[in-house]
Amino acid sequence: MINKLRIEPKELEILRFLSRRLKLPLKNEKQYLHLEKGYAGEQHFDRELQDLPDSCIILNDLLLENSNTHFQIDTLLIAGSTLFVFEVKNYEGDYCIENERWYSLPSKTEIKNPLLQLQRCETLLRGLLKELGFHLPIKSHLIFINPGFQLYQAPLNISAVFPSQLKRFLTKLKNTPTAAKSRNMKLAEQLNARCMKENPYIRIPEYNYAQLRKGIPCDSCSSFLTPFTQGYLTCGECGLKEKADTAILRCVNEFRVLFPDRKITTNTIVDWCGGVGSGKTVRRILVRNYEKKGGGKLHIIKEGKNRRRGLR
Ligand SMILES: [Zn+2]
Repeated sequence: MINKLRIEPKELEILRFLSRRLKLPLKNEKQYLHLEKGYAGEQHFDRELQDLPDSCIILNDLLLENSNTHFQIDTLLIAGSTLFVFEVKNYEGDYCIENERWYSLPSKTEIKNPLLQLQRCETLLRGLLKELGFHLPIKSHLIFINPGFQLYQAPLNISAVFPSQLKRFLTKLKNTPTAAKSRNMKLAEQLNARCMKENPYIRIPEYNYAQLRKGIPCDSCSSFLTPFTQGYLTCGECGLKEKADTAILRCVNEFRVLFPDRKITTNTIVDWCGGVGSGKTVRRILVRNYEKKGGGKLHIIKEGKNRRRGLR
């Protein structure tokens, strides 16, 4: 069972929206692609864990603190009487280890040793468990999720699961003997309660409204869409067809995420969408999906199927 769901990191959402409407500085562009890839890897691993028995408890994306130090756990699994810490890596291509240093090949550029990060997490988690009064053994693993990943000269006892080992590893997990679930639930609840709600380490470049390209970017390929016909927008690049209402709501959500303090009015959204929808259309969509509160600020009244897209 999943006790804490994974949600898309705010940092990734903001960078993705910005990248469509602005040329990101190179370092943010790299950071964006890195986050996108990392998140895809985590989602892949989530799918692999779907079939674990109900007695297992999964906590995703934990941002915790011990001894005034923050640490983040991608996936924490409580199975039987063991705590598993998983750090998911979506590395692709060839890598090697030499004298405990990690390099990406063929350029042989040194990368951060992911085992050190994992060990740091484990130590801090152990401290926190002690404080909470739980004494479970912790097993930590790097999960290399990408089938295109190859690591040379890895030591035999490395705390890692490679793509070709994942199926076997999951079978082993499924067969973990069960233990007192109430104790495990108690632990899960306490860890959840200790979790920080917002990541204080978000790094996003400065931006302002005037800098950003106005219009409606395609949901699939991000190219900008032209005015719609018969209630539908069709992408000239990839051919994706989308209901105009859905596309405009997508843009309203982008606007809310990028400018949380600004009012949502018909005029602001017409401008934000680059005139793709008329004032009349935008007003109709806003009225149908949002309600007016004091000061003319619009609040969501319907979530429905747009919820997954981030209208939360
Ligand atoms: Zn497209």
